[in-house]
Amino acid sequence: MLEVRNLSVRYGAYTALHGVNLTVNSGEIVVLLGANGAGKSSLFRTLSGLQRPSGGDAVYNGETLTLGRPERCVTLGVAQCPEGRMLFPQLSVEKNLRLGAFTHRRDAAGNDAELERIYTLFPILRDKRADPAGSLSGGQQQMVAIGRALMARPKVLLLDEPSLGLAPLVVDQVFEAVQRVNQAGVSVLLAEQNAFAALGIAHRAYVMEGGHVTIEGSRDELLHDDRVRSAYLGV
Ligand code: ATP
Repeated sequence: MLEVRNLSVRYGAYTALHGVNLTVNSGEIVVLLGANGAGKSSLFRTLSGLQRPSGGDAVYNGETLTLGRPERCVTLGVAQCPEGRMLFPQLSVEKNLRLGAFTHRRDAAGNDAELERIYTLFPILRDKRADPAGSLSGGQQQMVAIGRALMARPKVLLLDEPSLGLAPLVVDQVFEAVQRVNQAGVSVLLAEQNAFAALGIAHRAYVMEGGHVTIEGSRDELLHDDRVRSAYLGV
């Protein structure tokens, strides 16, 4: 289980996260809703060890994630798929995927097996394995970014805004892919502005506003919450 405990993040005088508490249980898809600037990326960077908290901590199965050591987070089983995908556009799809196996670089057979699993999850990537990643469509590039994170063999996937810039039909395809990843045994913390699509695949969700968690509940509780409906679902 991933537990975020009273986590705060400051950038100089500015406080981006104010004592955030949340959990992701084994097997869950947990969605984090919030507008631009709510603090979702700051939370993810902190859970990935890229940003040191100013207070509180986060633990995965009792092991501390928030020590500012990204490779430790990956080794413990927590991998991030960052906002904006951050692929190497000139490198082939397969080379981009293999970069995600950095922490397993001595296990060639295991990495080949993982690559096969990713090609089974995302068959289009097998067809495009030799193509430059930058030549793929936005949705396909998002699948490469998710696949690259999976090459680290995570137990928890931190997925930041995967629907960004994608057409609605493609968003559905990416979210179906996230569901398949989850069914394959990976817990998912999914930060999204596309509340409707994200809640569609969520078990539970949190709403963040101004660096605070303001609402939390099951998918159905959030879908029926008047504040969520007016602010995030446009109904
Ligand atoms: P987005 O969807 O735009 O990524 P977000 O919810 O992920 O938004 P964050 O990127 O975590 O939000 O930003 C939270 C707040 O912290 C914002 O007001 C942002 O301007 C500020 N912020 C983020 N990174 C830094 C930084 N390195 N230095 C100063 N302020 C920062």
